[in-house]
Amino acid sequence: MKKFSLPERLKMDTSWSLFLDRDGVINRRIPGDYVKTIDEFQFLPGVLDAFKIFSGKFSHIFVVTNQQGIGKGLMSRGELHKVHDYLQSEIKKSGERIDRIFYAPYLESDHHPMRKPGIGMGLEAKKAFPNVDFKKSIMAGDSMSDMIFGKRLKMKTVFIGDDLQKCRDHHRLIDFHFYSLHDFALQL
Ligand SMILES: [Mg+2]
Repeated sequence: MKKFSLPERLKMDTSWSLFLDRDGVINRRIPGDYVKTIDEFQFLPGVLDAFKIFSGKFSHIFVVTNQQGIGKGLMSRGELHKVHDYLQSEIKKSGERIDRIFYAPYLESDHHPMRKPGIGMGLEAKKAFPNVDFKKSIMAGDSMSDMIFGKRLKMKTVFIGDDLQKCRDHHRLIDFHFYSLHDFALQL
């Protein structure tokens, strides 16, 4: 029996969009803390290589990230912008691209629609890039709020990480699972 690849299963073409979570997917997550400076921003292994693959496969590449460290007063928007300028410049340096980085500075307790699992950042992306079709989009993240965000927008979801228990408990929210962003990119 022929084993279908991920793009074949999704009938993917280059009009698809990719939405990426940041912490734990692109850069190392700091448990119980926030990435407040460039020094604290550490790319996970293979991420720059993954972007090389993404650039040729997706029409749009977005980052959608909850950053409640701002809401908590632990960092400023300016500090976050510096971290994101660094992320953008490193991606650009390797010849690749992120079309836009969206972030939600609100506290979890605010239940703000802009904060995942709210869909606000997805709607912002669609407003800025009207060609984005959520049915032809993939959300890749390492938490259930990412999976819920994706499913609410009718996207395909990719769970990144080694938490297999989560995958079993929430299998209806997760379409594909890979251990890292690089592993996912290699399947495209
Ligand atoms: Mg994350």
